[in-house]
Amino acid sequence: MTISTLLAALNGSTIPGGCDTCNAEQEVARVGRITHITVHHDNQCPTLKQKQNRR
Ligand SMILES: [Zn+2]
Repeated sequence: MTISTLLAALNGSTIPGGCDTCNAEQEVARVGRITHITVHHDNQCPTLKQKQNRR
């Protein structure tokens, strides 16, 4: 199975993981030929807070 086949199969689903410091979930969304993976962090996640502080 190739990675693109895997991502196509996962389209619209969520995968656990994606962050070392919280119980994040990754949301897979296929848009045309491009697959977007969005990481959803816990509200308490230190990594998420760091990202927000940089903005
Ligand atoms: Zn996180």
